[in-house]
Amino acid sequence: MAITVKNPIVEMDGDEMTRIIWKMIKEKLLLPHLAIDLKYYDLGVRHRDETDDRVTIDAANAVKEHGVGVKCATITPNAARVKEYNLKQAWKSPNGTIRSILDGTVFRKPIIVKNIPPAVRSWRKPISIGRHAYGDIYKSVEYKVPNAGKAELVFTPVSGGDKVTLPLHEFKGPGVIMGMHNTEKSITSFARACINYALGEKSDLWFGAKDTISKTYHGFFKEVFDREAEAKKAEFQKFGIRYRYMLIDDAVAQIMKAEGGMLWACMNYDGDVMSDMVASGFGSLGLMTSVLVSPEAKYVYEAAHGTVMRHFYEHRKGNPTSTNSVASIFAWTGALSRRGELDGTPAVVQFARRLETIVVETIEAGTMTKDLAAIAEPKPGKYALTEEFIDTVAKQL
Ligand code: NAP
Ligand code: MG
Repeated sequence: MAITVKNPIVEMDGDEMTRIIWKMIKEKLLLPHLAIDLKYYDLGVRHRDETDDRVTIDAANAVKEHGVGVKCATITPNAARVKEYNLKQAWKSPNGTIRSILDGTVFRKPIIVKNIPPAVRSWRKPISIGRHAYGDIYKSVEYKVPNAGKAELVFTPVSGGDKVTLPLHEFKGPGVIMGMHNTEKSITSFARACINYALGEKSDLWFGAKDTISKTYHGFFKEVFDREAEAKKAEFQKFGIRYRYMLIDDAVAQIMKAEGGMLWACMNYDGDVMSDMVASGFGSLGLMTSVLVSPEAKYVYEAAHGTVMRHFYEHRKGNPTSTNSVASIFAWTGALSRRGELDGTPAVVQFARRLETIVVETIEAGTMTKDLAAIAEPKPGKYALTEEFIDTVAKQL
């Protein structure tokens, strides 16, 4: 008998190889077992082009309305893609559009499988990374100083009042300067999204910065995080989880000795660097999931990888492929278990958890795609093709 999912999930279809996988996951793993109302939006690049990208905005608004979405990887068109798909223009990144409508933060979390050993021996549980995606060096103004001169920081209040001028440096010769900023609104949103995620996952929250050196800039981030975490203290206590502020270098050292299981909130640059470090440390892009969480606790789940274009070209030529569907399956299970938790329907959560367990057990029993077979210990005798892997999971389910 099918399990009823009480409220809708917003489904965003995508492009290339992930679109092929998406359909298989739905038809073989989900629809035979679930009675579910999917609000379908086709974010495939052709349909985005036909609708002048309106469909992306509609999908983001649908997530606002229903609270939970699941998204297939999509092409962000560049000049080559505009030509390949004969597009009207190089439409913006759908993820960027969705993120700006929901004002969200992206969290990445690896899937742990016993026979894919992490590079760091102590890592036994996933380490999630939350990256602040606004400001700092990513929205800075830089200047190459040609010769001797005086550099200053100037702030002019709109409401009148005195101009503030701070000396930066007296140059005796050539050099370089940069001015960067962030806003209290953006930092607060980021802190709240991290707190929502940590409470949702029931995991500790780490935040690292360098407030000993940058007493005002990094100090401000710490102040906002401390304030927002303090406001949720009762909920942290209820779940038995902790908020910890650490100096960023201490956080890096601690992570290497930790067993994992925490959310590590990072300032923009730290998140850029550390998310790649953590992703490669856990093995493969095919095992990395990603979720966008808004300050109002709306969620969009997806795989962290792209549309796996090279595999799609092979597929189109009629050649067999071995594309990893695990992160896409986990995007669905993430959305389903969130939906189930919000709806108070434990059977839906259990179904999602069961599917996740079967996927992990399938790999641990030696059935896996080529990307994993290359790094598994022990190595399997052969690797599974794209559809073979999904079929094996479907049979277990
Ligand atoms: P990609 O899809 O992440 O794939 C890059 C390479 O990583 C693949 O060629 C493959 O290596 C390996 N790989 C990634 N995911 C895999 C999986 N599930 N199973 C097996 N191998 C996997 O990046 P791309 O090919 O550079 O980008 C293609 C398109 O994706 C672009 O148009 C880009 O705009 C888009 N993109 C979308 C998102 C998103 O929607 N969130 C994110 C990133 C990129 P091998 O070929 O060596 O096997
Ligand atoms: Mg990076």
